[in-house]
Amino acid sequence: MFCRGVIRFGTKVSNHETYARNSSHLAFIGVGNMGARMATNLIKKGEVLRIYDVLPSNSKAVEGAQICNTPDEAVKDASVIITMLPNGDIVKDAVIGEKGILKSAPKGSLLVDCSTIQPQVAQELSKISKDNGINFLDAPVSGGVTGAQAGTLTFMVGGDRQVLSSVEPVLLKMGANVHHCGKPGAGQIAKLCNNLILAITMIGTAEGMNLGIKMGLDPKVLASIINVSTGRSWSSSTYNPVPGIIENVPPSNEYKGGFAVNLVAKDLGLAEGVALSCNAPVPLGAAAHQLYRTLIANGYGNKDFASIYQLLKGNQ
Ligand code: NAD
Repeated sequence: MFCRGVIRFGTKVSNHETYARNSSHLAFIGVGNMGARMATNLIKKGEVLRIYDVLPSNSKAVEGAQICNTPDEAVKDASVIITMLPNGDIVKDAVIGEKGILKSAPKGSLLVDCSTIQPQVAQELSKISKDNGINFLDAPVSGGVTGAQAGTLTFMVGGDRQVLSSVEPVLLKMGANVHHCGKPGAGQIAKLCNNLILAITMIGTAEGMNLGIKMGLDPKVLASIINVSTGRSWSSSTYNPVPGIIENVPPSNEYKGGFAVNLVAKDLGLAEGVALSCNAPVPLGAAAHQLYRTLIANGYGNKDFASIYQLLKGNQ
């Protein structure tokens, strides 16, 4: 079977003839807040999935998947292996560690890392994978748990364009947009730029909402004004940090699930590292990093990042 893949690169769109997968199942490693929802969409859209997570209770959330007890069990015979893990150290260990994926992944298979990690680690893993006869793409995502649930994620991909063509139909079962960003690591660079902006706009939204509410405005009225005015952003329109404004998002569920403060702080640290390497000033990113770290110091590390609103609101 041949399929057509569409890859967006900058403003250009091109078509590539791609080759078919030669195995009936995919492997998915790491089914937490994002991974469980992405894996569920793959199953709903007809994929056969073997999943592995260090926390067996998380695997149970993915209905219809074959739950594996080891990464080895999940990846052997898989044509495509997707990882969605917390950070670069964990991804590195999962891929090239003692019981790493590369030890049991079939030659010619494709490893797609959707986690947000250091671009240099993605480059290193791409090279080691290639040396072991395995293709590698860094493909971090944007859209949060709401996008993961709805299957509307944006994938930012670094690595070989033709390899991306081969897997694009699979990515489009979890997302609405697939962008080729360039060489290995380029997807991670795009992702860190996006999250730098996201982290800052979430604080800005929380600050403006808190100010208006403390001055007596109705939170819903203020939110609806912002959303048709120049203060609008994803943080205000899709994920307003004030509880009760938008249903079914973490701010309306005690900041449970979602995008953990620990993870946004990790991403800001990575963005600062990249910024240092090319002398790009990121003053607001640095301030945002310190604010989220303050939130962690106050016990919010595992809460959703929109809980920055609670820090600004205080206890009054
Ligand atoms: P999470 O902590 O909810 O999920 C990570 C999962 O990986 C957990 O289930 C954990 O048990 C599992 N895990 C940890 N080590 C493992 C290992 N060695 N082998 C197998 N499983 C292991 O995190 P998340 O929110 O799903 O985020 C995952 C990645 O996606 C992170 O890199 C994050 O920065 C990125 N991301 C998150 C969001 C979001 O809104 N949550 C959005 C975009 C990108």
